[in-house]
Amino acid sequence: MDYSKLAELLFPGVTETAEEVEARYPQRNLPEGAKVTRIAPSPTGFMHLGNLFGAITDERLAHQSGGVFYLRIEDTDAKRAVEGGVETIISVFKKFGLNFDEGALIDGEKGDYGPYRQRQRAPIYHVFAKKLVSEGKAYPCFCTEEELSAMREKQEAEGANPGYYGKWAAHRDMPLEDIEKALAEGKSWVLRFRSEGDPEKYLHLNDLVKGKIDMPENDQDIVLLKSDGIPTYHFAHVVDDHLMRTTHVVRGEEWLATWPVHVQLFAALGWKLPKYVHTAQLMKMDGGSKRKLSKRKDPELALDYYFAEGYPVPSVIEYLLTLLNSNFEEWRLANPKEPYENFKFTTNKMSVSGSLFDLDKLRDVSRNVVAMLTTEQVWDYLTDWAERYDPDFHKLLTRNPDYSKAIISIGRGVPKPRKDIAVWSEMKDYMAFFYDELFVPGSEYPANMSTEDVRAVLEKYPALYDEHDDQTEWFNKVKELSVSLGYAASPKEYKQNPEGFKGHVGDVSAVIRMAVTGRVNSPDMYTVMSILGRDEVLNRIEKAKERL
Ligand code: GLU
Repeated sequence: MDYSKLAELLFPGVTETAEEVEARYPQRNLPEGAKVTRIAPSPTGFMHLGNLFGAITDERLAHQSGGVFYLRIEDTDAKRAVEGGVETIISVFKKFGLNFDEGALIDGEKGDYGPYRQRQRAPIYHVFAKKLVSEGKAYPCFCTEEELSAMREKQEAEGANPGYYGKWAAHRDMPLEDIEKALAEGKSWVLRFRSEGDPEKYLHLNDLVKGKIDMPENDQDIVLLKSDGIPTYHFAHVVDDHLMRTTHVVRGEEWLATWPVHVQLFAALGWKLPKYVHTAQLMKMDGGSKRKLSKRKDPELALDYYFAEGYPVPSVIEYLLTLLNSNFEEWRLANPKEPYENFKFTTNKMSVSGSLFDLDKLRDVSRNVVAMLTTEQVWDYLTDWAERYDPDFHKLLTRNPDYSKAIISIGRGVPKPRKDIAVWSEMKDYMAFFYDELFVPGSEYPANMSTEDVRAVLEKYPALYDEHDDQTEWFNKVKELSVSLGYAASPKEYKQNPEGFKGHVGDVSAVIRMAVTGRVNSPDMYTVMSILGRDEVLNRIEKAKERL
């Protein structure tokens, strides 16, 4: 067979040579050891945890080695692509603070290794497809859907392995005249790889997460170009990651099964294999057993879920880092204030089998993360969240930013910060009693107190309340009030002689707390009252008295 003639026949319009294309994508000029990584999502409009999981890995590997992290859009499957899919990808990664050095932008792209949208790379794939054909390594296949399914049925009946290979590869050795004829008739064709692989032989592969893996060689004549001339994932992966000079391919372990195909394609094109990092699947516990997170069953798989619930971006990142690197949690405990970028991320601390994703654990992590944020950071995150997901709350928050920030700052920036907020949606309940519109009066006074004693506290408190008092002065006055009503000045005193008192100072404070906040629990009352201000405190006490 005259393969160059076949190549000319199939790709008459392709004039550029493989060498010329190569020359347009020179080796990157990077320091020794710098890693080039990419994420390559499809613009389906659905962004999931797996995308983020991989992206954090890519970003860390590239940026902590002085390398390049880029975004490539895998839009070869037109059926799955949605309008605005690229915008979604870009905006989601931006929100998570993952910055690309090059790649697709909403309008256009940046970087010298583009185009970064695969559909725009069709002419490039065709150059290498033509080269493979001219070397006898690829051939056109004119099989129709019907013929392929008849083949599958026959294979099933005979108990043969499914697929297009060996004797089943009907068009593998089609004579040139027949090909010419089929082309002249306008028959649709796909380009298949002519596999020389022998499944009896094993490839010895080395994955940076999974370690050494032995896999049988591939004998399938897989499709390189679909009938519309657009490549399959396999071909696009090999051509793009070679030309874009990716050093480390980080991808989900669902791609492990077809790795032998990729190894074979790299070899057929005479290219060096990149390093591979196959990341473990995200699993969850369900009724006592582990299973993969599913798009249908688990809303938490979608990244939108985290935005809507108000999970702080750094919490999600922190938690994914604990799943990605087994020593991250320990490092975080020892370094609570360091930015996560200072942690040394490595592929050999990555989980080999599935990573167990647990929302409760994420909430725990998040409480710690939120506790470490400054008031300004919380303000920015919270108002961003509320603007989109709770506009009424946003209105209240921004009516008087200083007032809201004072509330946010309670228990923040102190040696033992409060750890009661995991998601922004919880802030509304936490802050509610500070806003008249959300304040719900309560009447759960301590069970050991008579209504008369509650009334007495509410009647006497306004007279002793002086907003200029410091915390100690204030508390001393509450103690004095307690004693005057027959309550012990401290729980300890009460415990020593329970018969001698009606209760203790905690009961009296609880009355003030209930009247002012409507709650049994609240942050420190002295601080709460200083934020609310004298008028509001007295007003609430008066109203509480009226409700008795
Ligand atoms: N488009 C593929 C995916 O989303 C990319 C896999 C890869 O990173 O190579 O799974």
